[in-house]
Amino acid sequence: MDYEVVIGLEIHSELKTKSKIFCGCKNEFGGEPNTKCCPICLGMPGVLPKLNKKALEYAIKAGIAMNCKISRFSKMDRKNFFYPDMPKAYQISQYDLPICYDGYVDIEVNGEKKRIGIERIHLEEDAGKLMHDPFGQGSLIDHNRCGVPLIEIVTCPDVRSAEEARILFETIKTILEYTEVSDCQMQEGSLRADVNLSVRPRGQKEFGVRTEMKNLNSLRAVQRAAEAEAKRQIAVIEKGGQVIQETRRWDDNKGESFSMRGKEEAMDYRYFPEPDLVPIVVDDAWLNEIKASIPELPLSRKERYVNELGIPPYDAGLITMNKKLADIFEEAYKVCGNPKLASNWIMTDILRRINEQGDSVLDSLNGAKFGQILLFLEKGEITQASAKQALDTFLETGEEPESIINRLGLKVQRDENLVLAAVKDVIEKNPQAIADFKAGKTKAFGFLMGQTMAALKGKGDPAQVKKILEEQLNAAINE
Ligand code: ADP
Ligand code: ZN
Ligand code: MG
Repeated sequence: MDYEVVIGLEIHSELKTKSKIFCGCKNEFGGEPNTKCCPICLGMPGVLPKLNKKALEYAIKAGIAMNCKISRFSKMDRKNFFYPDMPKAYQISQYDLPICYDGYVDIEVNGEKKRIGIERIHLEEDAGKLMHDPFGQGSLIDHNRCGVPLIEIVTCPDVRSAEEARILFETIKTILEYTEVSDCQMQEGSLRADVNLSVRPRGQKEFGVRTEMKNLNSLRAVQRAAEAEAKRQIAVIEKGGQVIQETRRWDDNKGESFSMRGKEEAMDYRYFPEPDLVPIVVDDAWLNEIKASIPELPLSRKERYVNELGIPPYDAGLITMNKKLADIFEEAYKVCGNPKLASNWIMTDILRRINEQGDSVLDSLNGAKFGQILLFLEKGEITQASAKQALDTFLETGEEPESIINRLGLKVQRDENLVLAAVKDVIEKNPQAIADFKAGKTKAFGFLMGQTMAALKGKGDPAQVKKILEEQLNAAINE
């Protein structure tokens, strides 16, 4: 029997506001436990929450970027459950009136575009963190994360493979980075995905029973968890069993998932409107302001690079996956006037630096200055090797490219008399190579070329050196 996999993702993303969602505490990762909290985010009785407008703005921004409708009237609701990392014993979330709904994102799978529906995006607060105490017998609670603003993005069950699930997660991550609503630090838990998955015999219309795997925090984990879960469900069905609707925990080290608990239903949460917060009304002026702040998004950038700048699709995809890199490319090609030169340098030199030193190298790489170095190269004023040297120095010192090139004397040496003198000198000092060249050994020419370039300290213009060397060699042979 041939099975089809059906997947929907629920993605939680922390918003990078300065303060928490309902109080003035700092929204920052880490720090000494329980130092970034107050009576409001600790859930003391009698306190009153107040909605952080920036958090709402970021949720709307994410929604617009994912082509959602924006609710002009919505509200916050209480989702009641008891868990020790949630001191109020309820989470303030949104139930029937999410701030964003009915959107979509386009993903690219094997060069083909596919549209995935976004059911809703709602605003809610994060919980604290439990840490098992290795000395005592219990668990310790850090409340610093309580009340950090979150959005939950719920996709429609439109995904049909583990690979598509990974690409969707990555695409949404990139959109959140481009719109600058989240820093998407998966190792710190600021972006995590739940994978809902079912299988059905290919051709069957109804969906199968689904399971949910919670809190996956890497692209790879999403893909591997989905692959393993699809296999597990198919094996259960093939053995004549039935998949049960449940929540499972994915263990990325073991490469296996384990049953955690039966799936809770909405009614288990006894949702009701949050009585301490007023409803949310979004007016035209504000909505238009937020719309205007949305930058060009990754997929449309990629298409522009391919169609208008002639960049190969693979390169364009890789560059636009990282907003900083794409911004650097954008500035660099405008300054040097040659998009392909800029993208080639990014695909080779800059990616090598990222591999060696990590993403932080991009922080010291100013796109316009990088473009200036490429412009010297484009105009033939410096060689490829000198451009690399200038870039090294720029990344170290931040000095102006022009001043680096002058200070290190990197400009190409085009003075005909100087080049001629160097060529003559090399010919005189290398009689054996001249004899080899006479005997038809073409390798000897390369050797002489290298000697001349070295004599010019690498600053000769290769085309000019080659021309003068050829002339002089022919003259020497015909003597
Ligand atoms: P609940 O409210 O119980 O969490 P939702 O309808 O909100 O359920 O769906 C949660 C997620 O599960 C969504 O991402 C949705 O796309 C996905 N989903 C729903 N049904 C299925 C199914 N049969 N197979 C796979 N994914 C599903
Ligand atoms: Zn607080
Ligand atoms: Mg749900």
